[in-house]
Amino acid sequence: MQVFIRIFPYVKRYKLLAFSTLFCAIAGTLMVVVFPAITQRIVDQVIGQNQPEKLLPLVGLGLAAFIAQNGLNSLRIFFNNHFEQRVIFDLRSELYAHIQRLPLTWFDNRATGDVMTRLIEDVTSVERVLIDGIEQGTVAVLQILIVSGLMVIYSPLLTVSALVPIPFLAAGALAYTLTARARYRKQRKAVSELNSILHDNIAGIRQIKTYTSEEREHARFDGASDGVRKATLTVMKTWAVYQPGMEFFSSCGILIVSGVGASQVLAGNMEIGALVAFFVLTRFLYEPIGKLHQLNQIFQSGRAAGERVFEIMDAAPEADEGEGAPCPEIHGHVVYRDVSFSYDASIPVLNGVSLEAPAGSMVALVGPTGAGKSTIVNLLVRFYEFTSGRITVDGVPIRSMSRQYLRNNIAVVTQESFLFNGTTAENLRIGKPDATEEEIWSALRAANAEEFIRRLPKGLHSQLGERGVKLSVGEKQRLSIARALLKNPPILILDEATASVDTATERLIQEALDHLMENRTSFVIAHRLSTVRHADEILVLERGRITERGRHDELLERGGLYAELCKSSLIESETVAVLA
Ligand code: ADP
Repeated sequence: MQVFIRIFPYVKRYKLLAFSTLFCAIAGTLMVVVFPAITQRIVDQVIGQNQPEKLLPLVGLGLAAFIAQNGLNSLRIFFNNHFEQRVIFDLRSELYAHIQRLPLTWFDNRATGDVMTRLIEDVTSVERVLIDGIEQGTVAVLQILIVSGLMVIYSPLLTVSALVPIPFLAAGALAYTLTARARYRKQRKAVSELNSILHDNIAGIRQIKTYTSEEREHARFDGASDGVRKATLTVMKTWAVYQPGMEFFSSCGILIVSGVGASQVLAGNMEIGALVAFFVLTRFLYEPIGKLHQLNQIFQSGRAAGERVFEIMDAAPEADEGEGAPCPEIHGHVVYRDVSFSYDASIPVLNGVSLEAPAGSMVALVGPTGAGKSTIVNLLVRFYEFTSGRITVDGVPIRSMSRQYLRNNIAVVTQESFLFNGTTAENLRIGKPDATEEEIWSALRAANAEEFIRRLPKGLHSQLGERGVKLSVGEKQRLSIARALLKNPPILILDEATASVDTATERLIQEALDHLMENRTSFVIAHRLSTVRHADEILVLERGRITERGRHDELLERGGLYAELCKSSLIESETVAVLA
């Protein structure tokens, strides 16, 4: 019922389509009255009273009724599909918009395949509940009412006989409904798990191949696939008992009608034509009852899917406290005061971090893996919210700015440069949607990426990514530098690559980075001595605390962790940098 209520607002938007569907369905159903009446007249008048001249008009009337019935049916399917697809579109679109507003912590705890299953499959299943429910449910109930009414007119006694199985049918439906939820939940979950493994393995196919773990992964995939098989079979097994069981009771109804009806005719209480008409009616009575059982199945499956869809809808999006706040130009004076943070409440990741980066300065973050370097910069873009302390940009607390405004003023260049499926121009325009080709070329030039883009068959308009040209790590990195240059924000976050690239490429990247860092406040998660040397301040991080700070020479002299890191080549002085 919950799902029903929540999906209703989406359906309400298309009143005309809903009304047209329902109108065609009801008008089509009304045609069921015609056929039994014609049958009765053919038996009693044409055959019984030998009036062959009535046969043709009666058959003609039947033909007209069938044409009307199926014409209306065709229209109904047409309207219904439009109605259905619009509701699915809206629901999916709103769900997607909501997903984009969810905080990163939400994504940290979700498998991509699961989210995709919910957005693609579960949405369709949910929507069927209401549309099929309204349409087929209304038609079925209407048909049952009309047909039972007609039956009473033909023979109250036979009507009672025909209704004998109804309590059994109701009891069966109730038992099915009460137990179905658990079965469908399990099935939806199993499908999600299978999709998650598939997504994971396709993304990680290189690792699977290098570790030659194909067989293990295949077994894991088969395990999940077997889970889907079992869960689906459980659903089907119940259906296999339920559906024929319900058919059986319906058939019993027809048998009872035959017995009672025949004795009525024999006793002279009923015409044969009326009995034949009654048989036709009995079939028309049980047909919608069978449909209601099928609807019940759709309903139960939709209910389980609905829980999964609305679970996402109910997840709290990133609150935008700073919405509507003034947006003065940002110069990039960044201050952290006593900032602490933990991803999950139990393990503190940052502990009383304080730092100051005047506009245009460069701060290098160094320290062992897991010390919290990435976490510090994640807090600045508000990917995560710090637990205590204060972060300000130009004296304004970042929490009083809207996230959008804040992020518009920061560029992040990470180790793994992500390129979307699309052209070079499209990928770069993410940085500045209205950038002209001139501007794009000049950003590419500054990022030392002009040459290899010129060599691509369609230049700026060559497809990149999964479906296009594959670029090397160094080339991708320079493209992401160009993207940041186009965006041209006052603050830059740079996660220096640890991947090995050849000396020439290294130099090209370094030059591009130097261009990028000019006149910006830069936070660099540094792995190279060449970068750290030029930093205005180096912060050494150990287990979430800043333990040393100063310029390169000062820190070397001190002989602390920084000096050790330099000595033990954790910060490489060579061009090839690999972090332990
Ligand atoms: P660094 O960048 O210095 O290598 P990080 O800031 O990435 O370190 O990580 C600091 C600590 O926080 C590590 O112990 C890491 O396991 C943990 N951590 C990082 N990201 C997450 C996350 N999204 N969820 C939970 N824990 C995380």
